[in-house]
Amino acid sequence: MTQQTSKVALVTGASGGIGAETARRLARDGFAVIVNYAGNAAPAEQVAREIEAAGGKAVVAQADVSDPAAVRRLFDSAEAAFGGVDVVVNNAGIMKLANIADADDALFDQTLAVNLKGVFNVLREAARRLRDGGRIISLSSSVVGLLPPGYGVYAASKAAVETMSAILAKELRGRNITVNAIAPGPTATKLFLDGKPAEVIERLSKAAPLERLGQPDDIAGSIAFLAGPDGAWVNGQVLRVNGGIV
Ligand code: NDP
Repeated sequence: MTQQTSKVALVTGASGGIGAETARRLARDGFAVIVNYAGNAAPAEQVAREIEAAGGKAVVAQADVSDPAAVRRLFDSAEAAFGGVDVVVNNAGIMKLANIADADDALFDQTLAVNLKGVFNVLREAARRLRDGGRIISLSSSVVGLLPPGYGVYAASKAAVETMSAILAKELRGRNITVNAIAPGPTATKLFLDGKPAEVIERLSKAAPLERLGQPDDIAGSIAFLAGPDGAWVNGQVLRVNGGIV
């Protein structure tokens, strides 16, 4: 029988970027962490090793969040490792950009499969299995407010995440579980940087009044706030974390 010694946080898409930084931060805050990844095992294992080297607890768990059976197994493995789940960070996501006129069916289907069905799969499982007093935090994006050309399908997937989170917050009445979304602006990760010309990165770096890109730890800090004691009274909200870009 596994002994529960601390609160447990499951972070999807924690092999890189915001998810990896969130896993490290929540571990520093005392959570035992499930480091989920889809395809890149080595960086996920590296994150878990770093957490353990710093005295924390972590296990790695592969699951494609778009697959409901895999998400069920992900929660099974979290419960097997640590006895239950208190915090879920619905972070896994992809970003494929095209104007709507040019977007093919694959772009639409893949975006919705990961960013919407994936989030739904995890929200559903969290709603069923999270311990009372838990926290659910899903990653939206500030493009829901900015509405830039080229982001139609991606922004629509994130708008749906915000809507589902707010409704789940109400559905979980009576269990002392909060459900919120974090909506970052441009953040220096693979998802944002890959494939963008230097001048676009430069322009977007200066777009917020704070005149820099977000860093993964800027976003991880806001997630840790919602997951920790100071976030207890924030529920059903979208928190834009973006240096003031919108
Ligand atoms: P990265 O591309 O750096 O990391 C994405 C992570 O998601 C990886 O760990 C990847 O795992 C995982 N992932 C991708 N697909 C799946 C899947 N089907 N199942 C499970 N895991 C999956 O992205 P970011 O850190 O930048 O983004 C994290 C979240 O923040 C996303 O939801 C994104 O939309 C959102 N966001 C990011 C912004 C930015 O500017 N960076 C701005 C606003 C929102 P693997 O390596 O194994 O494939």
